[in-house]
Amino acid sequence: MSFASLGLSAPLLKAIQDQGYTKPTPIQKQSIPVILSQKDVLAGAQTGTGKTAGFTLPLLEMLSQNKRSGHSVRALILTPTRELAAQVGESVATYGKYLPFRSSVIFGGVSINPQIKQLQAGIDIVIATPGRLLDHMGQKTIDLKNIEFLILDEADRMLDMGFINDIKKILAVLPKKRQNLLFSATFSDDIKRLADSLLNAPALIEVAKRNTTSNNIKQTVHPVDRERKKELLVHLIKEGDWKQILVFTRTKHGANKLMAQLEKDGITAAAIHGNKSQNARTKALADFKSGEIRVLVATDIAARGIDIDQLPHVVNFELPNVPEDYVHRIGRTGRAGNGGEAISLVCIDEHDYLKNIEKLIKQEIEKTTIKEFTPDPFIKAEPIQQRSNQRNNRNRPKSATRR
Ligand code: AMP
Repeated sequence: MSFASLGLSAPLLKAIQDQGYTKPTPIQKQSIPVILSQKDVLAGAQTGTGKTAGFTLPLLEMLSQNKRSGHSVRALILTPTRELAAQVGESVATYGKYLPFRSSVIFGGVSINPQIKQLQAGIDIVIATPGRLLDHMGQKTIDLKNIEFLILDEADRMLDMGFINDIKKILAVLPKKRQNLLFSATFSDDIKRLADSLLNAPALIEVAKRNTTSNNIKQTVHPVDRERKKELLVHLIKEGDWKQILVFTRTKHGANKLMAQLEKDGITAAAIHGNKSQNARTKALADFKSGEIRVLVATDIAARGIDIDQLPHVVNFELPNVPEDYVHRIGRTGRAGNGGEAISLVCIDEHDYLKNIEKLIKQEIEKTTIKEFTPDPFIKAEPIQQRSNQRNNRNRPKSATRR
């Protein structure tokens, strides 16, 4: 099946060709015709499935089919993180390069004034994180009353990050008549509730099964003692001669500590988490992509929306306490048809976390003990500290929400 047969016109087909895509991915095959038929959509898709093009291409097509004069914003794409907003913004620019639309990416952590200037000049498509968008709404520097399309990308993560009230405030100012698209990797009851309140007789699109992981990803658990995880990680990286590894920790502190330890062992590493400035995060990601650093240590929040093609190795240095995060984490590998490896270093403290994850993904993960790292049977389980800087509080007060 070709992109042309999905109903996209020449300027988009040319941009797709420039990208070197020859055929649509499964989510694109499903989403593009449905969105072009003006239906609301509820889509279950992880990063790596081509979901961004899956909504951006038909959005651009619809906007170009129904030209409108005037200055106000026509499409609003909400994302949970700045990184994802930036990446979606890049996709809109890339796919829309032969179309006349103007887009703007709006997120916090950077000066608001250039954003205001862009908005004043007239913007068709806004890609925003909820917090900064609300700031603009408060300052009346954005007009959303003519929105024709609302897209929530990684909606599950937005809810996890405590954005539900922000989303409600944004929804309240949008015109009733509009097309809504909701993309989410997992489907909790909260997401279902949001979908019910937001979507009008939506078409359901699912590529990977709900809360399941891709078959392209080889998942392995290496049992190991708590204090020997770092040593094992270094062993795996050196033995396997791994070049590009995304490593997850549960906490910001843990990320910093691990990064320092890896550097000491001569493995180039950077850490990204919510305490890092936007510039530091952007630089770390760029260095990781270019191969200048070998390991990127990330917390769950910071890793959202990281877009790296064919990431070969994802390591759970610590298992997440929210099982859905496991699905998100390992979705960073085995992308767009390429194989990938997801390795979890699991100590005795984490056996319950592992059980919950296996229950969620309905699959037992293969356990391989590495001989030199066989766990000491005399070590007892200890409770895992729930640190205050973890993202495990769905009812976090608004003041704590990162913008
Ligand atoms: P996403 O799931 O939107 O994060 O996309 C994952 C990656 O797949 C991105 O780097 C896209 O550039 C790439 N991609 C999207 N659509 C296609 C396609 N039809 N063929 C090949 N690669 C694609």
